[in-house]
Amino acid sequence: MALQYFEWQTVADKIVAEVTQNRESAIALLPNGAKRAAGILSTLEVSVSDALNDAGFRLHDNRLEISAGGLNLIYEVGKQNDFGGLAEEEFCKVALQLYLFHEIHHVAQGLIEFEDVQALKRTAGPDKLGELDVIADTVAAQLFAWNFAATQEDFRRQYAAGFLAALHFMVEYCFPAFGFPLEKRHKVQRALGIVLMAIITERAIDRRDYESDFDIALYASFSQNFSELAVLSYGGNPSPAMHSVVRTMKPQSVKAVLRLLDSGQVGEILAMTRALV
Ligand SMILES: [Zn+2]
Repeated sequence: MALQYFEWQTVADKIVAEVTQNRESAIALLPNGAKRAAGILSTLEVSVSDALNDAGFRLHDNRLEISAGGLNLIYEVGKQNDFGGLAEEEFCKVALQLYLFHEIHHVAQGLIEFEDVQALKRTAGPDKLGELDVIADTVAAQLFAWNFAATQEDFRRQYAAGFLAALHFMVEYCFPAFGFPLEKRHKVQRALGIVLMAIITERAIDRRDYESDFDIALYASFSQNFSELAVLSYGGNPSPAMHSVVRTMKPQSVKAVLRLLDSGQVGEILAMTRALV
């Protein structure tokens, strides 16, 4: 059985209290993109609702409602996998943070009304939505990592570990929960961006290079036949820059990775992507 909305509400109250407390003591440690989201969070009343239909969240005056249905999709994937060895309560705290922080950043982006999302698809195109989502995912992982590390002595090392754990959690539970089929190109491109960020963070941790900007957003774009890949990076507020271009990809192996992205098999996805780039 999934959790009731009022059970999620208890988790949400704990998280908001934690962020508020850490904001008072450790705001300087928060990455810039995430500072704004944390500031917005502190002005809102967060409530979990089971009446949002398909919307992920709804903002009305100072009240942000997030969807119990969305949270429970992640919960179900976790439950099928024994919560990845975490206690159920811990798992729910991670799921709620990543979900809430993602939606909070959409508020910071001004991407709030369902109609505006549809208008953006018609005008700038779905790719732009994929970019805005990967940036919101990144801010969610940054806020999670900061909230986890804020009270610890070796902040930057713990922050890197927390950031990587958040990305793994997304690949393992959130991707299968929401499903990223190959035909939805902007969704697999967003998902691959997260996987590439995990690989970059892994490498930084291996080198004990905790001061580098491993925690910036990456968005991947493929050519029509999947033989070329361009990766854009976004430092802070949207400022796209070329991160890398790969020109020698075998379309079949690219498609094999992209098809696996929402399978939850985090080890295999990372291994196949490492071989790709
Ligand atoms: Zn989103």
